[in-house]
Amino acid sequence: MPRTVYVNGEYLPETEARVSIFDRGFLFADGVYEVTSVLDGKLIDFDGHAARLQRSLGELQMANPTTREALLEIHRELVRRNDITDGLIYLQVTRGSDGDRDFVFPAEDTPPTIVLFTQDKPGLADNPVARKGFKIISIEDQRWARRDIKTVQLLYPSMGKMMAKAAGCDDAWMVEDGFVTEGTSNNAYIVTQDGTIVTRQLSNDILHGITRAAVLRFAREAQIRVEERPFTIEEAQAAREAFITSASAFVMPVVEIDGKPVSDGNVGKMATRIREIYLEEMRKAAV
Ligand code: PMP
Repeated sequence: MPRTVYVNGEYLPETEARVSIFDRGFLFADGVYEVTSVLDGKLIDFDGHAARLQRSLGELQMANPTTREALLEIHRELVRRNDITDGLIYLQVTRGSDGDRDFVFPAEDTPPTIVLFTQDKPGLADNPVARKGFKIISIEDQRWARRDIKTVQLLYPSMGKMMAKAAGCDDAWMVEDGFVTEGTSNNAYIVTQDGTIVTRQLSNDILHGITRAAVLRFAREAQIRVEERPFTIEEAQAAREAFITSASAFVMPVVEIDGKPVSDGNVGKMATRIREIYLEEMRKAAV
């Protein structure tokens, strides 16, 4: 059955959805996006994603085509129409099109393009990989300098995932000036030998993960020490544990970095505990 998707105010079968070839998202990657998880038919951390969307749009002087309330209703309608129990909702807003190609932004009254679609992922929170953990490689961070804006300019992260795949691994951590920035599509963490969670501090160098914010809040509430600072691959390889977070993977243990096992190479206790807390709390707060 074709999915029902949302394009500029209309719910349509995916086969009938159309965007202009002049759309700036297509020509210039001039667009931003969000991915929100659905568990048991409910949205996880919707407000976090809506707030970050607003911030990304603001940083690019792009108009927001909706309100929080309208956006929530579109998300819920797509969940209903596509009968999603567990899955993802992808949302993209671009600067639209004024019918030609020009580097200069179009007139301010040019309507933005807004597209949403669902991805059905039965058992999303029960991913068996979470019991096995990720093997990762490190690669140089070759992205632009405004990684805090969630743009659709994802070619380098996509290349990074292909490099990981070619190396027989699950993902890549990017390194700049000797320090890990983040994963290709997730934030990166280590747990030091004394049990402190370490993750890079917020800046323009990394995406301000919605899952990161929740996980750090829950960790602090559970009296776990948290340090927001950069760390190296060598420190990660010598750590007690490592893990990543994202809205679609939640909390995922990392068991190997550049061919070296993290501790004994098994999934760590802290990552498992944080994953459980995160899923339990976020399911309770889902809308
Ligand atoms: N960093 C990058 C580069 C990402 O693409 C993502 C996922 N979109 C994240 C971090 C994690 O962010 P979130 O927890 O909001 O999904």
